[in-house]
Amino acid sequence: MVMPNKDRVVLKEANFIACCSFCGKEAEKEDSIELIIGPQVSICSECVEICAELLKEKAVDAST
Ligand SMILES: [Zn+2]
Repeated sequence: MVMPNKDRVVLKEANFIACCSFCGKEAEKEDSIELIIGPQVSICSECVEICAELLKEKAVDAST
């Protein structure tokens, strides 16, 4: 019976670097950004702003 290597999973979690899944910025290195961390992905405040802009533009397009 083969068990999944739990040691490796723990090690990976211990070495987890909080970085944006979209632009790859590391929150610890960038004082100006906030990182929103989800269960599988994270997004930084800069990417949130970009997304907000895109959604705003899309809303404008839809209304015209
Ligand atoms: Zn980002």
